[in-house]
Amino acid sequence: MLYINGNWKQTESGNTFSSFNPATGEVLDTVANGTAEDALNAIQAAENAFEAWSELTAYERSNYLYKAYEIMMEKKEQLAVMMSKEQGKPLKAARNEVKYGADFLLLYAEEAKRVNGEILPSPRKDQRFMVLHQPVGVVCAITPWNYPISMITRKIAPAIAAGCTVVLKPAEQTPLCAVEMFKVFEEAGLPEGVVNLVTTDKPEEVGQVFLTHKSVKKITFTGSTEVGKYIAEQAGKQVKRVSMELGGHAPFIVFEDADPVHAAKGASLVKFLNTGQACISPNRIFVHRSIVDKFTETFVERVSKMKAGNGLEEGIAIGPLVDTQALEKVHNQVSDATSKGAKVAIGGERIISEPLHNGTFYSPTVLTGVDESMTIYYEETFGPVAPIIPFDTEEEVLKMANDTDYGLAAYVYTNDLKRAMTMFEKLKFGIIGINDINPTAAAAPFGGMKESGLGREGGKEGIHEYLETKLGGFSI
Ligand code: NAD
Repeated sequence: MLYINGNWKQTESGNTFSSFNPATGEVLDTVANGTAEDALNAIQAAENAFEAWSELTAYERSNYLYKAYEIMMEKKEQLAVMMSKEQGKPLKAARNEVKYGADFLLLYAEEAKRVNGEILPSPRKDQRFMVLHQPVGVVCAITPWNYPISMITRKIAPAIAAGCTVVLKPAEQTPLCAVEMFKVFEEAGLPEGVVNLVTTDKPEEVGQVFLTHKSVKKITFTGSTEVGKYIAEQAGKQVKRVSMELGGHAPFIVFEDADPVHAAKGASLVKFLNTGQACISPNRIFVHRSIVDKFTETFVERVSKMKAGNGLEEGIAIGPLVDTQALEKVHNQVSDATSKGAKVAIGGERIISEPLHNGTFYSPTVLTGVDESMTIYYEETFGPVAPIIPFDTEEEVLKMANDTDYGLAAYVYTNDLKRAMTMFEKLKFGIIGINDINPTAAAAPFGGMKESGLGREGGKEGIHEYLETKLGGFSI
């Protein structure tokens, strides 16, 4: 169903598409297949709602966000189960994601009231300068399937807190999660048109309307770097504002002064989170040559205990990949690496045994002997594959880690404070975990350098992505 102007409706065309459970291949449900016409209606609804919504006090907008937070927490289990079914992640991880997603509603209920202006010193005595922040206007948001609920609130919560109105196009693989999330917004009593939902399996058609409509002042996108570049280019034609959370290729560096067992535990936990389908997933694990054997042994042992399966069952660590194209991409990367001399320490194949044969499962895989001649060294690995690469010196590993077009997350394990500081300062990534595998929270700025994106989500930075800065010069 589409949610436009406070109403659930079918598309103008009446067409639908199906959402699948990637663990079983079964159809979960069908949803409205939105068209350009539906996108136009949704933008019109957002435009009509903008003035009244932006003129509410920050306190009034904040109350809606608090309400949405409470409802989301009440529906936590329902949302998590839907996510596990539609996206495949283990239920425990889905619950964590719902909590992470809800935290954005709570944070921006608070940040809405902290959009302060400024009085600046002015050059003349008879002059005053005042800086005011105002909402940018109608925002179109495009979200991916890998974190199908938190990516929605990470965009919508700051946007509506700032006074913007929104049209969301979720990923075609996870429309049902978006529908469940919009039921939360509906129950929170948001005025009609403030948030609108267009589900579709024709992202280009709907995206084109977002990119060319004069009333749309900002596009906020999370997804691949390839699509992000296209969107930024098109948005540039009308100088629309853009925020981009794109791909990553995180290095995970383990120095010789770190405990290899502890580091291997951290690396295996973060690598296989969401079956490796995360933009901050470690893609290249650099381990000092003196401890690489111990590290690899512990890492492989931990991987050997990871159970793949339907996320709704107990004890599952590895869910399915999103679809068969993802399976193929991961397997091609592994085959390319092995054909050039890499060794498979564990895994390296599609899981086709019963009862997982209908799902898109790939075994958690560890590769050793990986070098820069292999595709996996430079290409984002959106799957459960961990390449381990030995190194000898700090200077060398810093160079190798920064040798990527991406710049989202990096991880460092060391017990040397000076080295930790050097790495924090010299790694060209937006998020650095030092002896820490989860440096993310709603209140912390999340985002990347280089081709990993533009702008930040979360924290006080997140709301400013949806605000214009206006200067008033007053002669008195
Ligand atoms: P994708 O770029 O194919 O799709 C993302 C979204 O863009 C989907 O909603 C899709 O329907 C839409 N889309 C595709 N083509 C479009 C077009 N022409 N116009 C408008 N919309 C269009 O990405 P994906 O494969 O679904 O997602 C995985 C990627 O997302 C990975 O690269 C991952 O690293 C990245 N990601 C980044 C972050 C982050 O915060 N940096 C978070 C999650 C995922």
